[in-house]
Amino acid sequence: MSGTLTLVPTPIGNLSDISPRCAQALAQADFIAAEDTRVTLKLLNHLGIKKPLVSYYEHNKEFSGKKILERILAGENCAQVSDAGSPAISDPGEDLVRLCAENGVLVTAIPGPCAAITALSISGLPTGRFTFEGFLSTTKKNRAAHLKSLEKETRTMIFYEAPHKLTATVQDLLKAFGSERRVSFCRELTKLHEEVLRMTLGQAADYYAEHTPRGEYVLIVEGAAEREEIGVTLEQALERVRTLMGGGSSKKDAVRQVSQETGFPKNTLYDAAIR
Ligand code: SAM
Repeated sequence: MSGTLTLVPTPIGNLSDISPRCAQALAQADFIAAEDTRVTLKLLNHLGIKKPLVSYYEHNKEFSGKKILERILAGENCAQVSDAGSPAISDPGEDLVRLCAENGVLVTAIPGPCAAITALSISGLPTGRFTFEGFLSTTKKNRAAHLKSLEKETRTMIFYEAPHKLTATVQDLLKAFGSERRVSFCRELTKLHEEVLRMTLGQAADYYAEHTPRGEYVLIVEGAAEREEIGVTLEQALERVRTLMGGGSSKKDAVRQVSQETGFPKNTLYDAAIR
């Protein structure tokens, strides 16, 4: 009979955050798939657990994933851990879960630490609807495309970022969302120097021009104002399109301008204008 894959979250800073159930899952597994076996060994030593470890990380995941699947299909139970937090969330795991699920293996996850949710909950920004954006790409083109796709995003957005890239990222967020957009910098969560800085992107650009970012950060960015909040209905936006066209603008130019002014997508304005 096939074994199982269990995703085991680990502390994002404070070792006391390992839950009894997580420790039990590690102790009961036949083997542990770890992102960095040295990091996991420290945790196992802290818990007094001895267990065979196999490495599973970004650059060996295809080869290692197949080996892990073979062992599970042969009846062994595997616990998967990343360096910190929940496996498969901006961490290795997603592909292993898919591989196991496609091969009929039972996959379970133990709930536990996740930097994104911990940060969101204390950000002071709306938590009712949110999107997880992970790390922005390091290539200029992909990063710009990612931010462009978020231009009209009204939900609260969660970003991960490394400290040495934070200042540049703040500049990019400022360009994308404007200086008045609120942001919370959630730093060193669960650690000695845990801190949440709540400000606007304009203030953040000034702040990080003077302060070097240190430690681990999650950025929580407020979503765009709902269109109703800026007080423009589709009918009013269309009226503006008509006025601009009456003044000599082409339909294309008028739609582009009104889309920028009101936040209505260009397609919506075109379709409505045609109707
Ligand atoms: N899977 C992990 C989770 O569930 O949170 C995330 C792993 S991702 C490779 C690492 C990123 O998570 C860091 O660059 C940082 O943005 C965020 N992070 C991890 N630990 C953190 C902490 N203690 N405080 C703030 N951010 C943290």
